Amino acid sequence: MSFWAPDVTDNHQQQRKIITVFAIAFSVTACSLTAGITPQLKTNHLPTQINPIQVPQKNLTSQINSQSQPPTKPTKVENLNFTVPATFQGKTIYHVQPQNSEKVIALSIDDGPWPNTTIQMLDILKQNDVKATFFWVGQAIQANPEIAKRVVAEGHAIGNHTWHHWYRRMDIATAKSEIERTNELIYKTTGVKTSLFRPPGGVLNNGLAAYAKSQNYAVVMWSQTSADTDPRAKSQVFVKNVLRDAKPGSIVLMHDGGGDRTRTVQALPEIITRLKQQGYRFVTVPELLKIEQSTINR
Ligand SMILES: [Zn+2]
Repeated sequence: MSFWAPDVTDNHQQQRKIITVFAIAFSVTACSLTAGITPQLKTNHLPTQINPIQVPQKNLTSQINSQSQPPTKPTKVENLNFTVPATFQGKTIYHVQPQNSEKVIALSIDDGPWPNTTIQMLDILKQNDVKATFFWVGQAIQANPEIAKRVVAEGHAIGNHTWHHWYRRMDIATAKSEIERTNELIYKTTGVKTSLFRPPGGVLNNGLAAYAKSQNYAVVMWSQTSADTDPRAKSQVFVKNVLRDAKPGSIVLMHDGGGDRTRTVQALPEIITRLKQQGYRFVTVPELLKIEQSTINR
């Protein structure tokens, strides 16, 4: 039985200084696990107490097939290699600045694959013809391989979100294991190779991002968050959080796993609908990194 047991007590927040322009985006921190978290509204601090949670082990075909959508047929996925242009390799990315302010936006969905919520989000994304980018936790892939296969079969992009979702500082060997073990399981399970890495909690100074950069991964952060780890907010607040700061080239953070994401599922259709009404086109993170840029962010 596996548990996520992140320990954030010794994290420094230095990295936050360089992203003050996006301070609002961090008003509720990413990737915090639901139970026992004191909401961190309007602060730039990570949660100081996170209870370990159990990665659900249920991975039933019946669950996959019990949703509104028909069972996923094996579809030909054209590109299973999620590479990044050389200019972004080894770099930390918060957003991009498209030429002519083209209204493109990328939804990123962390901490799965997860029973129920991932599948519900896949249904919504399919109904709206939207492709997203899922950052997976190794333990969760191990627990839910069939869900992982469906995500890939439906054309979404995949990134690496470590094996254990630890926040704590770690040595190079541990950082390497956290990332490479996860990439190996992503490949073994789905055939995907990815050069996208997102550090749990957005923590950039605990050894993970340094290792990822040394291996030419792109360290993919975000420019705005749904703040869907806030245990008290209603789903409508997630919608408002995303819409308030949507800009061309934004990377939006939300979660399908790591806790009960029912409210994120509830918010997702309206987030998509309203962004489309504003003229946005949804792209994956790899697609976003390949569009014409007016400048490169960091
Ligand atoms: Zn996370």
